[in-house]
Amino acid sequence: MSAHPAEQSIVTFVRSLHQAVDRANDAALDRGAHIDCKAECSHCCNARVEAIAPEIFLIAEELAQRPAPAFAEMVDRLQARITASDQEALPWSHRKSCPFLEDHLCSIYPVRPATCRKGHSTNAGKCAAHAPEIPQNLDMILNAEALIKGTSGAYRQRGFDGSAHELVRAVLIALLDPTAQARWFNGEHVFDAAAPESHDRTAQPQIKNAAH
Ligand code: SF4
Repeated sequence: MSAHPAEQSIVTFVRSLHQAVDRANDAALDRGAHIDCKAECSHCCNARVEAIAPEIFLIAEELAQRPAPAFAEMVDRLQARITASDQEALPWSHRKSCPFLEDHLCSIYPVRPATCRKGHSTNAGKCAAHAPEIPQNLDMILNAEALIKGTSGAYRQRGFDGSAHELVRAVLIALLDPTAQARWFNGEHVFDAAAPESHDRTAQPQIKNAAH
């Protein structure tokens, strides 16, 4: 079952947030900002990540297009992560890596949420040492936070849940409940519920781009 075109366009609107955060980061770098981040440096991927609903549905759509065995393996990985509930209480230095991290690279990089796009460090040594505070470029942080806040406010103004949700649990809900996106489009707070159990992990939800 394809999503209604209006529903799909409201979800994909969040890509404009991602593009704006990326552009703001690039502009800060052009103005001389220094960041110390490099590919395959993934210390920050232990941190708690939050995302708004349309970002979660974009990720679910990307995962649903994977071959069935890879999809089932990802569902298992997400479930294992959320059942290790003590993770939430741990400092980031002791938490397991994000389940989307594969070989030190983000496996959902093109659709990673704005929170991850915002994250950076001006001193990678501090990240490697799991310092309690990571030095960051204030310009980049303020720009990204303003864009995230403005976008979530725009969704709220239109009657959608625009609040932030813990990424892993929310993606699991979006993957296992094929009604989640349509119910969110109808104004429900679908990520407030407990994550559902998967009974058939090879059954992929039909989350399709209405343009196809
Ligand atoms: S979604 Fe990607 S960038 Fe964000 S924490 Fe997970 S692996 Fe890292």
